[in-house]
Amino acid sequence: MGERIQVAVRLRPSLGIDDKNAAMKELSQKNSIYTSSSPKSRSFKFDKVFNPEDDQEAVFSEIGENLLSNTLNGFNSTLLTYGQTGSGKTFTVFGDKDDPGIVPRLLIALFEKISTLRHEFAANDYHVEVSMLEIYNEKVRDLLRPRNGGFAKVREVGEYFRVLNLTTVVVHSREEVEQVAAEGSKGRSIASTNMNEKSSRAHTIFNIRFVQKIKEKEGTRVKRSEIVLVDLAGSERVGQAKMEGSRFKEGVSINLSLMKLVRIRIANLEPCSEEKQTPNHIFRGSVMTQLLKRSLIGNSKTMMIATITADEENFQESLSTLKYANRMK
Ligand code: ADP
Ligand code: MG
Repeated sequence: MGERIQVAVRLRPSLGIDDKNAAMKELSQKNSIYTSSSPKSRSFKFDKVFNPEDDQEAVFSEIGENLLSNTLNGFNSTLLTYGQTGSGKTFTVFGDKDDPGIVPRLLIALFEKISTLRHEFAANDYHVEVSMLEIYNEKVRDLLRPRNGGFAKVREVGEYFRVLNLTTVVVHSREEVEQVAAEGSKGRSIASTNMNEKSSRAHTIFNIRFVQKIKEKEGTRVKRSEIVLVDLAGSERVGQAKMEGSRFKEGVSINLSLMKLVRIRIANLEPCSEEKQTPNHIFRGSVMTQLLKRSLIGNSKTMMIATITADEENFQESLSTLKYANRMK
């Protein structure tokens, strides 16, 4: 069984609403969120709660430093972001030019460490590879190979599921990673008339792999550690916006993936459940759960950041995000 998922919540600065009427507040007691306007008020406790005053640096030193040390120590890690569209998932993970998020800060530190390692152990080889894919309507697209739509197949390979022939690019600096990511993001918009709309209905997985080829007497030992960054589709519920036809189908498949993630967590917390004896079976239900199998039950340290706003008008969505995050703990 995998380790418990560490769950953090980030409360973004409100969108011009005065703080007195905020529907969500941090309790004076640390790392709890208090919801003030509901039939009954509730409080939730998480591993970490970031306030609107907590800047990108604060989030990095809590979450990013952890990811970095896992990676350098040879562990795989996964960071899932979950929340309503506009609540700050992308801002938290990637940030923007003026205010970089977890990934650019992590890459700066990783490439710095690599240059020290190269200096110290000149015989070894250290490099970083990235890949990027999108899951939309249960189909996988390789975002670094947008030609012909970039559609890719998922197969069960041994214990886990793999995307076949997924493009992997070797990168040498943070700038290069950003170039690749920007290319990949462009790939997302090709099939879409309204990118914003679509990007909120698709899941994106960005993968950073740190490869160490260590020279030893007996030969070369290869160590790989992976960081899987999962930008889950907007959590807003299907029923709320009027959705028909294909948009309805998208909504259903997103929610299905997300529900399955929760079910798998719960199944794995019950030691003798039937599902636990046939692990691959329960993962087959959706592409997202297939690709996250390793993160959920394998050798991976997994964290989730749930993003919410304090605004009254988003209260129901924020509350459902908190409930979802609470079940992931
Ligand atoms: P999501 O990816 O969840 O849909 P974004 O990360 O794109 O949302 O955020 C929407 C907008 O709000 C962006 O312009 C972003 O810069 C801004 N934003 C989000 N979170 C914060 C924050 N904590 N501090 C400042 N600006 C934020
Ligand atoms: Mg986003």
